Amino acid sequence: ISFAHFMFDDALLAAIAKAGFSKPTPIQQQAVPVGLSGRDLVAVSKTGSGKTAAFVWPMLVHMMDQPELERGDGPIGLVLAPTRELASQICVEAKKFGKAFGVRAAVVYGGASKTDQFKELRSGGVEIIVATPGRLIDLIKMKAVNLQRVSYLVLDEADRMFDLGFEPQVRSICNAIRPDRQTLLFSATFAKRVEKLARDVLTDPIRITI
Ligand code: AMP
Repeated sequence: ISFAHFMFDDALLAAIAKAGFSKPTPIQQQAVPVGLSGRDLVAVSKTGSGKTAAFVWPMLVHMMDQPELERGDGPIGLVLAPTRELASQICVEAKKFGKAFGVRAAVVYGGASKTDQFKELRSGGVEIIVATPGRLIDLIKMKAVNLQRVSYLVLDEADRMFDLGFEPQVRSICNAIRPDRQTLLFSATFAKRVEKLARDVLTDPIRITI
């Protein structure tokens, strides 16, 4: 299938063409329609498959579907990722495709200045936050960010977040977000702990394996 099947609007198709992508990867072919449908998703898929765009594109459509995108009311899309490197890459991708819509994204992770990240989140607000779990919790406690408007949540590389000991933080963040959200979980493996998380924080998910 081609990008035309997704019925994206022209601005997004133009951004995809500008990125040099000519057709959706297998994970995109399967995950994008689920993301657009509003259903929860569990996808077993590795880095390098194009999974970032597979959750970023439906996230942008989700935001465009909101009747009024008020600025400064807190993020609508939240992505949790295990490491600074992965979180940064995801934020680059979110900015690249979000720019055409005026959607702003920020990344926060441990090991860098909390004050700077606090200021960035507080300054005028962003529609998308990409975060490592521990730092996000710190920033929530500092009241740098309010998650009440988050309605599209992505847990990326869930197995690696668990390996790094982030399970309690991931669960606590999920529990702090409104239950009528859409949740997409990506993992390279489907370990028992990931299966359990999916049962606890997703609602009747569609499952795909690439
Ligand atoms: P990811 O698995 O999300 O880390 O993506 C791996 C790489 O594939 C990134 O450099 C993406 O920019 C690129 N990519 C994503 N989707 C496509 C596509 N449909 N066609 C070509 N490259 C892509």
